[in-house]
Amino acid sequence: MLTFTLPGPLRSVARSHQTIVYDALFRASAEAAQHLARDSRFVGGQIGLVGVLHTWARDLSYHPHVHYLVPAGGLADDGQTWLPSRSDFLVPVKALSHLFRAKFRDSLRKTDCLASVPAGVWEQDWVVHCQPVGNGLTAFQYLAPYIFRVALSNRRIVTVEDDRVTFRYRASGTGETKFCTLLAEQFIHRFLQHVLPRSFVKVRYYGLFSPGHRQQLSALRQQLGAPLAEPASRAADSNTFAAPLVEPSLLTATDKVDAVEVPSTGSRLPAPATDADPFDAPPTGSLPPVPPADLNTPSSPSSPSVMVSPHRVRCPACGQLMQRQATLPPHGRSPHEW
Ligand SMILES: [Zn+2]
Repeated sequence: MLTFTLPGPLRSVARSHQTIVYDALFRASAEAAQHLARDSRFVGGQIGLVGVLHTWARDLSYHPHVHYLVPAGGLADDGQTWLPSRSDFLVPVKALSHLFRAKFRDSLRKTDCLASVPAGVWEQDWVVHCQPVGNGLTAFQYLAPYIFRVALSNRRIVTVEDDRVTFRYRASGTGETKFCTLLAEQFIHRFLQHVLPRSFVKVRYYGLFSPGHRQQLSALRQQLGAPLAEPASRAADSNTFAAPLVEPSLLTATDKVDAVEVPSTGSRLPAPATDADPFDAPPTGSLPPVPPADLNTPSSPSSPSVMVSPHRVRCPACGQLMQRQATLPPHGRSPHEW
């Protein structure tokens, strides 16, 4: 899984020009990954990416980033040969971060937004993480709920009283349950900044997963012994999942989605186990005293990934738990940096 994060100084520009900046974030990150993967020292071919945009951290602060699921390999120039990458290494993240930054700047150059960006942002290091996630199913199950969810479920709202709202969240890194109390207007502001522009496509497919590569992808699946995909449905012509736009917590037992369809392949995967999502796990212990209103935006969880157990790590961008292979290098590092 690749994760690309917008640096802090760019967030105010992103908030004011969401469509432009989110599009640039998708385009620059996908192009950078594909460009580097084509290098024969790494994959040497065309990779495939499916990406989902996240804009919030656990405390609802504004933290735009994109997660991509990327198969460990690519298609050779002959259009037929599968080139597997190493199981623990895809591309060097430092080079990827530099390329991502350069392509993002090029993308903004075509808009009116570039002048609003602080010059220092082009000098600082941008955060990119590359993490092996096994066959990707676990990562997919954790990412999928974000396609349907809004930034906060009702279950996480603890109290609404005296013009203040208290909600709980799990601290990134420690996993500790914390409580955030905001004035109602501040709470509404923090929540609404995660409402995407109308019709914005938050799940996108690139490279081998793009619609133009369906035949090659199908041939590769057969070559690699993958189960045959079910016939493509109407969703195959869409760029988003054909699933109800309803928060999972609001679905009734009979409404619940048993499976979601991958439009690029037509295959179906089990629906995410939303009850197991640590974001919405019920708090343990009793509610602590309500702190004074938090008038400042909490710091974003941009710290390095935290190993929860030998087999699980927490995403540095949004705090999700991911399956980890114990023998692999830490989040975002190549074996050479291990
Ligand atoms: Zn995330």
